[in-house]
Parts: sequence; structure tokens; C-alpha cells
Amino acid sequence: MSRFGVRRVTWRALRARRRELAALGGWSLVESLPALLAGYLVARAVDEGFLAGRLVNGLAWLGVLGVAVLVGAAATGRTYRSLGAVVEPFRDEVAAQVVRGALRDATRADGRPDSAAVTRLTHQMEIVRDTFAGLLMVTRGFLFSAGAALLGLLALAPVVAALAAAPLLAGLVVFLAALPAMVTHQRAYVRAGEQLGQSAVTALAGHRDVLACGAQARVTADVERWVSAQAAAERRLARMAAIRSLSLGIGGWLPLLVLMVAAPWLVERGLTAGAVLGALIYVSTGLQPALHTLVQGLGGGGLRYAVTLENILRTYPESDHQRPSAPAVRPPTGPAGRSPAVEVRGLTFSYGPRARPVLQNFSLTLADRDHLAVVGPSGAGKSTLAALMAGLVPPQAGTVHLAGATVAEVDPAVLARMRVLVPQEAYVFTGTLADNLRYLRPDADEQTLEVALDALGARPLATRLGGLGAPVAPALLSAGERQLIAAVRAWLAPAPLVLLDEATCHLDPALEATVEAAFAQRSGSLVVIAHRISSALRADRVLVLDGGEPVVGTHEQLLARSATYRALVGCWDDDSVVSSRAASARPG
Ligand code: ATP
Repeated sequence: MSRFGVRRVTWRALRARRRELAALGGWSLVESLPALLAGYLVARAVDEGFLAGRLVNGLAWLGVLGVAVLVGAAATGRTYRSLGAVVEPFRDEVAAQVVRGALRDATRADGRPDSAAVTRLTHQMEIVRDTFAGLLMVTRGFLFSAGAALLGLLALAPVVAALAAAPLLAGLVVFLAALPAMVTHQRAYVRAGEQLGQSAVTALAGHRDVLACGAQARVTADVERWVSAQAAAERRLARMAAIRSLSLGIGGWLPLLVLMVAAPWLVERGLTAGAVLGALIYVSTGLQPALHTLVQGLGGGGLRYAVTLENILRTYPESDHQRPSAPAVRPPTGPAGRSPAVEVRGLTFSYGPRARPVLQNFSLTLADRDHLAVVGPSGAGKSTLAALMAGLVPPQAGTVHLAGATVAEVDPAVLARMRVLVPQEAYVFTGTLADNLRYLRPDADEQTLEVALDALGARPLATRLGGLGAPVAPALLSAGERQLIAAVRAWLAPAPLVLLDEATCHLDPALEATVEAAFAQRSGSLVVIAHRISSALRADRVLVLDGGEPVVGTHEQLLARSATYRALVGCWDDDSVVSSRAASARPG
């Protein structure tokens, strides 16, 4: 049961909801009132009422039992409400884990989103929710009902309680001893079912090839192997059902037999007829159904819970922030050490086997605090380069290293803390401004957010929105305002490499200059895919991509060396800036 942390995850969910569990316990206590009083009140009704010839007395005692039953029924309704408060957040946690895992797989450099797996896991998540609720209900029901019945038996006569408790305990021990084997067989049954489904799908999808190759016998044998495996697992599970019946027989029926056999002896010892009847009622309406529900619940839904949750945890293990252990590769926290901040080696990439390569054997090195602008005509490959550097698409050849780590090998969760890519279409979500800004750095305090707002010239926007706590409606923001929020968020991110892919194109030139200056001041490296020539002028170096051989240099060097760059500069309209920089570049 503990494989893949089922026990740990379950205990954690229960510990996190102690208050709700206490409420559930409180209502369960009230619910078990009839189980506690039934035998005792029947004993009084018989001894002091019916057997004593006082009919009204007998009926009055039964009337009290009726009231207890009504109170118990009212409490049952409340237990379901408390149950929801425990189960629903647990379901949300499991759902979040599945979504996180699916996103991680979808954004992995070589990953493909597996929507079928997500659908399957969503179904399994519902099973976990339902069976978790069932598990809680049967365990709690057993503890309270059996506990109440035993207390009632004790009140009648301790010796009767002992006679009933001994076989009950023995039945429980038999069941609990067989439980691990039941989990193992249930697991084997589910796995065999999955494998059978997989091999059947493969066989059906490829039936033409199978026929063409004459491989029917081999494929049939493969499918049959899993059919046999599932059948064998089911037979073993059925044998386990016999153990369940045995434990029910020992724990549920034996106490009744013992009490009936011992009845004459008990009466000799002074037990009244009413007390004997009461004891039988405690066993038959309290202990026996409680044990029955527990055994059936744990043996059915409980097993499904353990195996299904285990499957989810195996497919989508808990993410780094849930696990106490350290990530496999740590992102650099300060300026990079001896490795260059970014090192692109021999990169070759094309969008398809027959497509023209966007980049071919391309290399580039950026030091910490380097500020590179990338320019080039539409379709030259600027965004593709940014995606390759961010590890979002895998190259056909070559590598990208960030602080010495190969992006293709870094865990996506760790990679997310090593670089941030801000695209042209800024993503702002419904929530407060602070929520949006903290998205990549959840621990940033308010003062840090305020500093970021000022550094990037976003103070007027924040004021207009109503401050950090104000709600943000993305649809009511302009494209530039969304870009500004995304820029502040990226600036706050702990990632040492920032890639701005025309991320400021909707800002006015002055604000764009403020934003870029703020990023340039920030520690780490900055790559700006330039929308205006002014962005190139602010950079230390400029990379020109035009489908031919990429050229890197300063603005002045490129004016001399790159016809594409000269043409771009000529087309951009920041004439004053260009001429001033060009003038300063002229000798003399
Ligand atoms: P722009 O300045 O217009 O954004 P860019 O320089 O960023 O262009 P990229 O978007 O990197 O250029 O595109 C480079 C080349 O790859 C283009 O020829 C483009 O048509 C092609 N391309 C881009 N994305 C894909 C894709 N998903 N599938 C196939 N080809 C693509």
C-alpha cells in the first residue's frame, strides 16, 4: 500500500484536515447514539416493561430508542457534509498533481501531450475521490458503531462484552493479515487489464500489417497472455473473497453463536432475559454490520483506492515543491560561475525533414550580464532561436547550455527557474495584480513588487488599476498594459536568462526603453528580439538573422559588415537615434 507514497499522501491529506475530521468525528458520535443505546434500552423494555407486565413502561423505553434513532439519522446527514469538506480538497490536490504532471510532460523539450493519458487519469481521479470518501465512511462507521456496541455490551455486563469482543478481534486479525495480499492481487488485476487493453489496441490498429506479415499467431499469443494474466489475477482475488467471508464468519457470526451457547450460563450468573436479548441486539445490529461494512468496504473500494492512487502517483510523481528532496540540477542563484551563462553549440533546426533549416550549425556564447539584440526580417528564425534557447523545442543537432547545464537534460521544473521567455502575446490572468506579478516568484514580498513596478515604469498602471491587491480583468487591459504586467513578472522571476520575443512591441518607445533598461540592470543575461532599432542600439551586441550566415557584432560593426542590418536600420523610423549613434561611430 505504501508503494509510490499512497500511505504518505493519504495521511498528509487527513492531517491537513484535522478540523474537518474532528467535525466528522463529532457527528459520527451523535450518529452512533442508537448503536450505543439499542441493546440497553431493549433490555430495560423487556425486563422492566413487557416481562414485568408493564406494557406502557416497555413501550416508553422503546420510545426513547425511537428518539435516539431520529437523532442519529439527523446526524448522518451532517456527517456527509463534513465528509465533503475532507474529500473535495483532497480531490483538488490530486487533480492539481495530474494537471501539473500533464503540463510538465507537454512542455518537456521532446514531450508530446498525451491527452488520452490525461483523460484516463481524470477518470482515475474520480475513482480516488469516491473510494477515498467510501474508505473514510466505512472506517469511521466501523470505529464508532463497533465502539458504541462494545460500550453498550460493557454497560450490560463486562463478561458479555468480553465474549463478543474476542471473536470480533480474531475476525479482524484474519482480515487485516490478508489485506496486503489482496492489494497485491488487485494491483496485478489492474495492471493486467491495462496491458490487455494496450495490446488489444495495438493489435487492432495494426491488423492489416499483422495480416500482411502473417503474424496472427504471435499477436494472438500476446493478447492471450494478458487475458490469462488478468483471469489468473481475478481468480486469486476471488480466493481472497473467501478469506473475507471467513473473517466475517469469525468476527460477525461467532459472537452470536458464543452468546447463544453461553446464554444459560449467563442467566445462571444472574443476567436477565432482557440483558441477553440486548446483548444479541448489540451483536446483530451493531458489531456484525459494522464489521461487514468494513470488510466489504476495505476489500472493495479500499483496494481500488490504493491501486488507483498508486497508479496516479506512479504516472505523475509529486512535483519538486511537494517533495522535500532537492531537484536534480540546481539553477544558478547568482552570476554564473566559470561556464558561460548561455552557450549555443552547432545548433541545426528545421521544422520538418524537408523544410529549409531555420538555423544550421549555429553557435553563440553569452556571458553573465550580456545584453544581445536579435534582428532580422520576418521569418528569419528569431522566435525559433528564442524557443531553442529556452529549451522549448529540441534541435536536430547541437546543444544549448545554460550555466553549464544542457537544457534538453534539465528537468522542466528546474528549467523554468533558469530562463524566462516572454512572448509578444502577454499572458495575464484573472486575479489580483499581485497574483499576476508573483506568478514566477511566489515568495516575493510586497516591497519587492513595488520596487519592480517602479523599475519598469509600471507605477502609473498599478495606480490606475487600484494597487497590488486590485483585481485584474485581462480583457479590459490594452495589449501594451498586458505586456507591461508580463514584463514586471519576468523581471521578478529568479531566472538568470531572460528572452524577450518582441515582448514590448505594444509599449510606447519611452516605456520600452525603461523596461529594457530595467532588464539590462538586472543580473543575468538578456536577449531581446528587437521590434525597433532602438532596442538594437541599447544592446551590447546585435545578432542579425536573415536566412544566410548569421552575423554578430556591435551596431557600428554591423553597419559596416551587414547589408541586411543596414537595410533594417534604414527601414526603422527611429531616425534621430540612428543618426546620433551613426555619427558617434564615425571616425574623427
Ligand atoms: P517574425 O519576425 O515574423 O516573428 P521570426 O524571425 O521570428 O519571424 P520564426 O517565427 O522563427 O521567424 O520562423 C522561422 C521560419 O520557420 C519561418 O519560415 C516560418 O514560416 C517557419 N516556422 C515557424 N514556426 C513554424 C512551425 N510551427 N511549423 C513550421 N514552420 C514554422
